[in-house]
Amino acid sequence: MSVDWRLVSTAGGAILYLLFAGIILARHALQERTIRWLVLYLAVSFLWALGQTLARLNWSTFLPDGLLAQTASCGVLILSCLLLHLSRSFLRLERAGLGWWALCLVSVAAVAVFDANLSILPSALWANQGWDIDRQRLAFGALVVGWGLCVGGSTFLTAKVYRDSRQPLHRNRIMYWPLGLVFTAAGDVLLFSDHMGLGNGFRLVGTLIAVYVVLTYRLPDVRQMIRRIVSYLVIAFLAAGIYTAGFIAIDYVFQTAPGYSPLLAGAVTALVLAILFQPLLRLIQQLVNRLSSGSAYDPGRALREYSLSISNILDLDRLATVAVGLISQTMEIRRGALFLVHHEKEGDGGDIFHLQGVRGMEGKEPRSGILSARSPVANCLRREHQPLTQYDIDLLPRFRETAADERAWLTSLGMDVYVPIYAKGEWIGLLALGPKASGNRYYDDDLALLSTLADQTAVALENARLFDDLKARNEENEGLNKELTVANRELARLDQAKSDFINVASHELRTPLTQMRGYAEMLYEMCHDDSLTPDLTSQMTGGISRATQRLEEIIDTMFDVSQIDTETLALEPSVTSVEMAVSGAVKNWATALEQRGQALIVEGLTEMPPITADGKRLQQAFSHLIQNAIKYTPDGGQIRITGRLLGQGMSPQEQSVEVVVADTGIGIASDDLERIFEKFYRVGDVMLHSTGKTKFKGAGPGLGLTIARGIVQAHGGRLWAESPGHDEETCPGSEFHVVLPVQPRHLQAMDSTVFMTSMRRG
Ligand code: ADP
Repeated sequence: MSVDWRLVSTAGGAILYLLFAGIILARHALQERTIRWLVLYLAVSFLWALGQTLARLNWSTFLPDGLLAQTASCGVLILSCLLLHLSRSFLRLERAGLGWWALCLVSVAAVAVFDANLSILPSALWANQGWDIDRQRLAFGALVVGWGLCVGGSTFLTAKVYRDSRQPLHRNRIMYWPLGLVFTAAGDVLLFSDHMGLGNGFRLVGTLIAVYVVLTYRLPDVRQMIRRIVSYLVIAFLAAGIYTAGFIAIDYVFQTAPGYSPLLAGAVTALVLAILFQPLLRLIQQLVNRLSSGSAYDPGRALREYSLSISNILDLDRLATVAVGLISQTMEIRRGALFLVHHEKEGDGGDIFHLQGVRGMEGKEPRSGILSARSPVANCLRREHQPLTQYDIDLLPRFRETAADERAWLTSLGMDVYVPIYAKGEWIGLLALGPKASGNRYYDDDLALLSTLADQTAVALENARLFDDLKARNEENEGLNKELTVANRELARLDQAKSDFINVASHELRTPLTQMRGYAEMLYEMCHDDSLTPDLTSQMTGGISRATQRLEEIIDTMFDVSQIDTETLALEPSVTSVEMAVSGAVKNWATALEQRGQALIVEGLTEMPPITADGKRLQQAFSHLIQNAIKYTPDGGQIRITGRLLGQGMSPQEQSVEVVVADTGIGIASDDLERIFEKFYRVGDVMLHSTGKTKFKGAGPGLGLTIARGIVQAHGGRLWAESPGHDEETCPGSEFHVVLPVQPRHLQAMDSTVFMTSMRRG
């Protein structure tokens, strides 16, 4: 009795497909896209094989006529479509792939239309002298084209992803896929050519390979396998060569020797070969390794060199450069980076690990990243004291929960392996290493060496971290020290200002007080002598009143200065004009001007727009300027006050007015132009300042300009002096420029309310 291989292959296939689908369903959750596609592929394969079995057994009579025959041809096409999508999913192509979907649907529809004759076409579509196109042929043509595109598509995508993939582990995994594709395609071709038994067998093998590759994460390294096979082949040929050559040589030399036997010659050659075999094998393996990967290092030596080089480094950047540099050199790695790990507490209770990149070999800092403490990647690196590969993160189900941003950050680094560094059980650093230049994967030996190197790095890293902290603290302390020195200097300055203030105040107050006392004593004595006449009484009380007024003035000035000092000058803003402020100030000094015979010219003030300001304070500021102009200009000199609008045509918020008080006085040396605005600063002896024959008495303990500038700045304006120089003979003159905003922003909102304004100090 002959075996019906066709039946055996379809029935056996159906059972195996069902079995695999069942096992996968029982063992794996269907969360993974590839697993879902695989189960679907197995399920359809099962149905297809079942259908074939039923047809073979002629048990399909309960199905509508011809349905099985039609689905049989369509089935191969549907399976190849599914294989295409399974391949896309296996290759982790995330895009929807609408083009591929359309291709599958169009070809299945075409086969269905022609084969099942859905559009009720005649069976011969075109006939011409012995050559015709019938429906069946068209259906078969569509089937072959659709199938070819699906299989070709799968192969093309596999090749493309393999070429684009930089990771040796991914590449290794992808390398297995074409094997499954080849078997499946060969099976399909056999099925098309009506070799059902063989075709089913090939399909089954192809599917088994696919199942194995999808479900196995750690696939044997193809390159290593090839390397082993090559070295064994080389050794086998070499051994055979040595044996033959040795045997011929012995035979040739000892042929004529008495007692020679070819058996002995064979035995001697075999003995020599047995002795040579082991070292020869090792040598050839090393040679093949070196030829194929170009690298071979001595782990012991690498470790010694590494420990020696990094043990004394205290600078983090240098440590990263040396550590990563040495590892890269030893293992021939393209790039690497060192990260410091900071465990940080987040507000909502969830901890995070901040991985801070340390500037390494390439001089640029690797992108820092954040891993949540709940992240599977962080958990693995923190707890499992062993390297983690990017391949694991990409493929292992335990890393499936990794957040998208964490995944994106890791991918952006372009690294292959992450080696955690621990100190006292705490995860403190991470060595991230990129692909090897040879394209080889990291083998277990490499990972073991990397773990040891990471342990060696731990102490150096901890030291460098502490040193870095210390350096940062030192810098902080230095900064604080500098601030303290500045604050001390400021305190000393304030202290000096205070004693100056008290000195000047007591000096200034003494004069009116002495006058008052003199008048009071005179009054007292005259009262006793009865020599007091109404005239004398009025003279003396007048003197007392003037001295009191002077006292008040001095106290007001002191008060203003202290407000300016503490930046709390009170302003009462209203809409006013510069012209009013200036004319009010001029009025104060009308008598003085007359006495000194000085000419006052006022120009351009009336044309200026109204401004928002504290009128009284402005008057005070101009009063100081005019007073100084009178004081430091010889008798008969000239004082000119001019005004102009700045920013004509602009909005009032952007406009300002400038008033210049110019005189023909003694002028100011360029060194003093800024200093005269300092408190108590006076050039030379105050009594000498008043030029001209008529002595002039004013406010001046060196505070007039300080107050004037304080007031102008409180309005958001500027006050500065210009002069060609100081010369009491030639009198080059000086100019005081006042610039005030027309509508100071900080004054508008409060309008006429009394408020405190802080000022920018010049
Ligand atoms: P005081 O006039 O009381 O000395 P100020 O603060 O008003 O104090 O002026 C400081 C110094 O600036 C004066 O001592 C004087 O030397 C110089 N100064 C001020 N205005 C003029 C001016 N118009 N011409 C020349 N020097 C001036």
